[in-house]
Amino acid sequence: MQKGTIGVTTENIFPVIKKFLYSDHEIFLRELVSNAIDATQKLKTLSSFGDFKGELGEMRVEVKVDKEAGTLTVSDHGIGMTAEDIEKYINQIAFSGAEEFLNKYKDTANGIIGHFGLGFYSAFMVAKKVEIRSLSYKDGAEAVRWECDGSPEYSMEPVEKTTRGTDIILYIDDDNKEFLEQSRIDLLLKKYCRFLPVPVVSGKVQEWKDGKYVDTDRDKVINDTEPTWTKKPSELTDEDYRNFYRELYPGQEDPLFWIHLNVDYPFTLTGVLFFPKIKNNFEIRKDRIQLYCNQVYVTDSVEGVVPEFMMLLQGVIDSPDIPLNVSRSYLQSDTAVKKISGYITKKVASRLDELFKADRKEFEEKWDDIKIFIQYGMLTDEKFCDSAMKFVLLKDTDNKHYTLEEYKTLIEPTQTDKDGNIVYLYTTDPTAQYNYIQAATEKGYNVLVLDGQLDSHFIGLLEMKLEKSRFVRVDSDVVENLVPKSDKKDSGLSGDQISMLTTIFQSQLPKDEQASFLLSFESLDPSANPILITQDEYMRRMKDMASTQPGMSFYAELPDNYNLIVNTSNPVVASILEEAEKALGEKVAPLASAVKETNEQIEKLRSAAPDGKLNDEQKAEEKALLDKVETNRREQEELLGHYAGGHPVIKQAIDIALLGNGLLKGRALSDFIRRSFEMLK
Ligand code: ADP
Repeated sequence: MQKGTIGVTTENIFPVIKKFLYSDHEIFLRELVSNAIDATQKLKTLSSFGDFKGELGEMRVEVKVDKEAGTLTVSDHGIGMTAEDIEKYINQIAFSGAEEFLNKYKDTANGIIGHFGLGFYSAFMVAKKVEIRSLSYKDGAEAVRWECDGSPEYSMEPVEKTTRGTDIILYIDDDNKEFLEQSRIDLLLKKYCRFLPVPVVSGKVQEWKDGKYVDTDRDKVINDTEPTWTKKPSELTDEDYRNFYRELYPGQEDPLFWIHLNVDYPFTLTGVLFFPKIKNNFEIRKDRIQLYCNQVYVTDSVEGVVPEFMMLLQGVIDSPDIPLNVSRSYLQSDTAVKKISGYITKKVASRLDELFKADRKEFEEKWDDIKIFIQYGMLTDEKFCDSAMKFVLLKDTDNKHYTLEEYKTLIEPTQTDKDGNIVYLYTTDPTAQYNYIQAATEKGYNVLVLDGQLDSHFIGLLEMKLEKSRFVRVDSDVVENLVPKSDKKDSGLSGDQISMLTTIFQSQLPKDEQASFLLSFESLDPSANPILITQDEYMRRMKDMASTQPGMSFYAELPDNYNLIVNTSNPVVASILEEAEKALGEKVAPLASAVKETNEQIEKLRSAAPDGKLNDEQKAEEKALLDKVETNRREQEELLGHYAGGHPVIKQAIDIALLGNGLLKGRALSDFIRRSFEMLK
């Protein structure tokens, strides 16, 4: 019997292995089964080249639980190992690699979880003793038995073994008894081995008999050796892809469409990506794409490998070229990974373009579902954005879809403002903003529906990408001003009239801390409503953004600002003014001219003083004059306010406008209703 020390420098590397990989020790099974598959594939290759002339026989990998003996055995009929092979691959090389690996990632234990690198020695994460029994395929080879109990000492001796291949026997330690349960092993094999290219059998197929499941004598094959992504697209039907999707994600709605990836230069990559139905419940579903390496499951956390926005997709990527035993940050800067990620982006974009061109109708029907994906891609990936500009769609209030180019052509003649900017009108809520949409459509404008979760960001993106274009929500101004064609028309009223109306309307505005109203007068179309309420586009966007982004609470806490525009051409307003002038003109006029006069006196006083500096006497005089103005003004206010209070039509007009914007609530709403009924009497 040969005895020796495994080629490592650190004496106590095994406890280190156990400790570092504790949380993920289940991967030992993946490692051992992968080795068994490799050994099998190698022999098949040798055979196909004529370097192995014997019978291959049934080439399957077996995982066997023996609860009584406390062992778990992984067996294959692959190339096997001679004593020299074991010396070379197990005793010397493999372990030095493992040590280096552990040293490198001591501080980031999580970083190594789920990655290849430990190989065979990961068996010691769950076993107190590991035994190898192997018979090499080589002519005249002698079977060999190797054993190691977790200390760096091993023993090796000839053994009786007649079948070619390797058995790896793990004597499971007391902390890991779970791996002696067939059900646990089944789950692990399902997770890591379900698409391996060589049949893996473990346990027996069960049957329902006499009220319980019992083992039959048929071996249970756990894997599909030819998963969809390894086949040629030309050999697959749509139903094949759907079935594969159902197998991967049971219980989910069928995918919208899929992309079959297949590259072999400059890197090797295969896979199928699915567009799931996500609708509007937008959450970045991370970890949905599964990453495989030659059909061995590696991870479902693919951050860094696929572009961020692809996280919304599902499916499988299989590439031996993605370095797996490295940390995430390294992965992101790896050039192979960058190329892969770039390739996937290009492929997804061209597939979308293809779908768009091949069947525009279907593309439009699926638009609501894929919109979020495309927008997210455009917002986060420059290259994807450039390609998507061709097929991203805009939908209007009539449910018609347009490409950016088509839409520009449509609205350019009517919606170009006086400065040559194209104004894109949009609604975020077609029901709530119905009034405004109607006014805009009546004027011959088109209104887009941008009510998705990413639309506000998307608008920002389009404003950057489209030249001389801006987006304006349909309720951000009166329809005349949405697409300003010339400078604003003035109100057509005298200064005194404006000041009178201002005081009258001001007295009846809601006193609210959450909302503030800025009053203005404009001479609009006489048939337009007497009072319109709009919300400034810029402020509204700031507030919208503040509600979803941290660090912008300053904007979130500001009250909502509204513009209350009085249409001085509307007959209701005209008659309010006329009646007020009739009733109060005589009383207000002297007060108003007194204010004017006093103001002139103040002006004179100030301009007479050298450098604008008043002496004490002048200051006293100024104060008296200011007081006079104030008293006078208050008197006017009271007079007009009292008058306005007695003419419910004013309050009524304001309330109707508020109601139309969903701003009339609670007490104010109930007062309004009562007042309205009063007026019917
Ligand atoms: P890796 O698989 O990454 O090379 P391992 O530690 O898992 O590292 O294995 C080291 C080597 O031992 C393998 O490269 C292979 O040559 C050999 N080996 C491991 N398991 C088997 C097996 N079941 N049959 C034949 N050779 C094996």
